[in-house]
Amino acid sequence: ESVPARLAGNTYNLDEEESHIEVNQELARTLGVGPLLERICPAHVYSVEADGSVGVEYAACLECGTCLAMAPAGVLKWHYPRGSFGIMFREG
Ligand code: SF4
Repeated sequence: ESVPARLAGNTYNLDEEESHIEVNQELARTLGVGPLLERICPAHVYSVEADGSVGVEYAACLECGTCLAMAPAGVLKWHYPRGSFGIMFREG
């Protein structure tokens, strides 16, 4: 089974009110970190928008932590989704 097919089996309890990922757009722009984020996220959460800002499709996040580990300090504010929100991994 392909990875996308497997990922499709995961369900999300989406927190509509609050993104658990915040991008410091000014710093991200200064450091030119958008393309890096776009490349490293396995869930394609980040995208560089036409105006150069970093788009965050936070609902797709797999909570893998890669972006936090790779982004320069201060660019991302990331916390695990509130309470029962976030991804629920399917077994098997
Ligand atoms: Fe993407 Fe992982 Fe960062 Fe979520 S934690 S936005 S899946 S790199």
